[in-house]
Amino acid sequence: MSFLKKLFSRESEPQQRVRICVECGMPIAEHKEWCSIWQHQQESDRKAAAAAAAKSTSI
Ligand SMILES: [Zn+2]
Repeated sequence: MSFLKKLFSRESEPQQRVRICVECGMPIAEHKEWCSIWQHQQESDRKAAAAAAAKSTSI
């Protein structure tokens, strides 16, 4: 019965799903430059980095 186990375990393995951006239709790792979602992400990333930098410098 071990082959069944193997079969099931293989089937239950999470498939690598590539998330597609709804804005530019590209995988989220490869947004287009004009993609507003990507731009928003960059913006929030920059803000987070700035906040982290401000925190670390204020100490
Ligand atoms: Zn995008």
